[in-house]
Amino acid sequence: MKNITIAIDGFSSTGKSTVAKRLAKALGYVYVDSGAMYRAVTLYAMQKGFITISSFDKNDLIAHLKDIEIGFEFNEDLGFSEVFLNGKNVEKQIRTLEVSQFVSQIATVSEVRKQMVRQQQKMGANKGVVMDGRDIGTVVFPDAELKLFMTASAEKRAQRRYDELIERGDKVSYEEVLKNVQSRDHIDSTRKDSPLTMAEDAIKIDNSALSLEEQFELVYDLAKTTISKSQ
Ligand code: C5P
Repeated sequence: MKNITIAIDGFSSTGKSTVAKRLAKALGYVYVDSGAMYRAVTLYAMQKGFITISSFDKNDLIAHLKDIEIGFEFNEDLGFSEVFLNGKNVEKQIRTLEVSQFVSQIATVSEVRKQMVRQQQKMGANKGVVMDGRDIGTVVFPDAELKLFMTASAEKRAQRRYDELIERGDKVSYEEVLKNVQSRDHIDSTRKDSPLTMAEDAIKIDNSALSLEEQFELVYDLAKTTISKSQ
């Protein structure tokens, strides 16, 4: 059976990674969370003080890009790959609301994007990959055999992200999560380099009213059909 490339793009907190992870497992494909890579760069920039509430020293970050090494390691117990920043597991640290509040600014920097895209293309060079993000179907893998674009209302997405953060024990309010979702949508869609747009040949899925199970069934059927057509 020939392997294909599956690109899943869409707005923040649309459940892309949940469905992408499950799809990759069902197909025996590699899953790559491209957002985690931008989050790891953001964590590095925060640790070095390149980005704070009141300042963003883009040039310092660009000068240090060569010192940033991002890797993924498969965790058997969790069933997915965790993110490493310069050899340190940062899976938990990159998911905080604080990182979410800075990540879209970091992701506007072309030099950062170039480095991430190069690494993502390498990871998907042999196909058999499900990658989710904002520019996977448009920039990283414009030739992907299957492109999906996920949407849902901002309120629905904020509620899902809020529930996740509360479950982890983070102290956040629904209002600040909603504000963050809306702000990231805006920055991601209006930035100059690789803005979030739906690829012309992508299939749009509004999952506001879909259960996780229904969404997975839909996506799995699309993947199976595309794989059999590609033989
Ligand atoms: O997918 P996730 O919400 O974790 O992504 C975090 C942020 O990283 C996004 O809001 C976006 O600013 C950036 N991103 C990006 N391009 C990607 C993946 C994520 O710009 N391919």
